[in-house]
Amino acid sequence: MTAAPTATEVASAVRSGTVRAATVLEGHLAAIDAAEAGIHAFNLVTREQARSDAAAVDAAVDAGHDPGLLAGVPVALKDNLCTRGVPTTCSSAILAGWRPPYDATVVTRLRRAGAVVVGKTNMDEFAMGSSTETSATGPTRNPHDLDRVPGGSSGGSAAAVAAGFAPIALGSDTGGSIRQPAALCGVVGMKPTYGTVSRYGLVAFASSLDQVGPFARSVADAALCFDVIGGHDEADSTSLNRPTPRVLSVLDDGVEGMTVGVLAEFLDGADPVVVARARAAAEALAAAGARVEEVSVPEVALALSAYYLIAPAEASSNLARYDGVRFGLRVDADDTVAMNTATRSAGFGAEVKRRVMLGTYALSAGYMDAYYGKALRVRTLIIEGFARAYQRCDVLLGPTTPTTAFPLGAKVGDPLSMYLSDVCTIPTNLAGHPAISVPFGTDDAGLPVGVQLLAPALAESTLFRAAAVVEAAAPDGSGRGGGTT
Ligand code: GLN
Repeated sequence: MTAAPTATEVASAVRSGTVRAATVLEGHLAAIDAAEAGIHAFNLVTREQARSDAAAVDAAVDAGHDPGLLAGVPVALKDNLCTRGVPTTCSSAILAGWRPPYDATVVTRLRRAGAVVVGKTNMDEFAMGSSTETSATGPTRNPHDLDRVPGGSSGGSAAAVAAGFAPIALGSDTGGSIRQPAALCGVVGMKPTYGTVSRYGLVAFASSLDQVGPFARSVADAALCFDVIGGHDEADSTSLNRPTPRVLSVLDDGVEGMTVGVLAEFLDGADPVVVARARAAAEALAAAGARVEEVSVPEVALALSAYYLIAPAEASSNLARYDGVRFGLRVDADDTVAMNTATRSAGFGAEVKRRVMLGTYALSAGYMDAYYGKALRVRTLIIEGFARAYQRCDVLLGPTTPTTAFPLGAKVGDPLSMYLSDVCTIPTNLAGHPAISVPFGTDDAGLPVGVQLLAPALAESTLFRAAAVVEAAAPDGSGRGGGTT
């Protein structure tokens, strides 16, 4: 295992002219060539575009300009982020051949900061899943054990970072799709406060829940990326028009005087090894000067049920646009309705169809109030439950996932058990709050365990301060540089 350089190291070396962006890129492309065939992190490696972007960064340095905070840093993008002229598939057959006419705002911001996009990563189809097995391009494998899943839905991004293919990747998190694969692949993954990172150019799954966020091998790299991608964007009507917390500058501020609540409901039902790691992380925070107490937010037990009404309801509406006319695939038939049906039947996989049907049912006349309306009321209760906990606590702590990475195929036939992988991550999305998963040791088989920290809306600075302390206390091999290549 070679410890690939972090984004912070790459950017500072490239900005100071000691290392060429082209050299950094070739190193990462070589890592991809060596191991990608066994992992399948990418739907597409954008080799030539990356080479010309890296050359532009080097030219800027030669001309005495500063390319930016991510100068020469290779980044991988989840394949639901629009890239101008470059296929964006959401790992779905229905988007085959579609090339977006514009870049997502987060992609523009990364490029402006000097980052070099190396490719589009595999994901569960339309981000619906927890294992990357619903992808139409085949599953991604966990770099720590190729017979196991990397988690999902951003499994390709998590695996790319864990395997040393890129120091930073972007994912999207609707119910846990950044934090859960980060935990299973032994990397850092962060979901920002809803509205702090632009969704413009993120293909919509459930618009009231979706947020873009970073994967990285260190908390500092995740902070660096968040500082680059965060901030108001007029092109996203749900973007918060207020100052976004800056996090890189507070990383060393420690947790003295903070109150950390260990969330009892997240420990319930989790594997003993995962519970033990979460408790050890809480002890590390206490040793660094935080006050640690146990808290209960009973409402979070309702989150999974509410999510599986709200998210499919929004998805059924968002995915109505794939009609064979405007995007990607078209299967011709005698009339328009038959063409729509044939296209959607051929283009969507089983999990997407299940969500569209569930969501359509939950929104249909006669059932809307009983299902969707009730789920919205439960969402309010969850927000109130967290608000109560945050009157006493600055951050909450628990496992990111109830188990470590499971074998490929283990849950594909059992949607409910798959859905339960996100039982500790979904509540945050319903509340709109930020949360981060930090690697913290391994199970007996050497598989990574993630510890999750949660904070109130816009308290990213508190979140990152606590995350830095947890990272510093992580057992050897589970923190920075925890890749396997
Ligand atoms: N696994 C959850 C789902 O299938 C969350 C997915 C996500 O966050 N995109 O809906």
